[in-house]
Amino acid sequence: MRKINLILLGAPGAGKGTQAEIISEKFAIPSISTGAMIREAIAAGSELGLRVKSYIDKGELVPDAVVIDIIKERLAKPDCANGFILDGFPRTVPQAAALDEMGVEITDVISIEVADESIMERMGGRRVCKKCGATYHTKYNPSPKGELCACGEPLTIRSDDDPEVVKSRLVVYHEQTEPLKDFYQEKGLLKLVYGQEKLDDTTSLTLEALA
Ligand code: AMP
Repeated sequence: MRKINLILLGAPGAGKGTQAEIISEKFAIPSISTGAMIREAIAAGSELGLRVKSYIDKGELVPDAVVIDIIKERLAKPDCANGFILDGFPRTVPQAAALDEMGVEITDVISIEVADESIMERMGGRRVCKKCGATYHTKYNPSPKGELCACGEPLTIRSDDDPEVVKSRLVVYHEQTEPLKDFYQEKGLLKLVYGQEKLDDTTSLTLEALA
């Protein structure tokens, strides 16, 4: 099987995290979410967490230097040697350039395309597990245990899924992250996957893009 060093692009709530979990399991490679690592740091009350909390609460990006350091350290771990999925990194052109400078080889870039109006609707139903990191949607991807995660923990709503914060995050996405599509198109790596109503249909298209 070929090596997969994948970047998942897409608006907040497009389904990157869900697809990342599925691909991670199928190919036995780690899914790396800078957002999840930042939320963990905030929950732990670490120095890093305190430094970045205000950005997340406002729906802004945390400074490039902070996430570049986080990702550099994470990609150096041995479990990334056989492939990895980056979910939520890079989010700016300087972050993508930093990956190049680190000598990180990217084999695939998939952008999950979902219209802003659908994002606003989807975000209202998103539920996350603070313990194991699993993500669900009340309508499109419900937990088998209702308001509990499959692992048994009560599900929660992310504070930055508040509709006003989501609007800001969409503006940030279009201004700062979407230019990465051109960046990777020019490298011949970009594939677009159109997010579907049904999760399984989006998964099939994503796996096709990796075939
Ligand atoms: P996510 O879970 O990927 O939606 O990320 C949640 C929040 O974490 C974002 O709205 C940003 O504030 C921050 N964040 C995550 N990844 C990055 C990144 N690569 N660059 C800057 N900020 C990030």
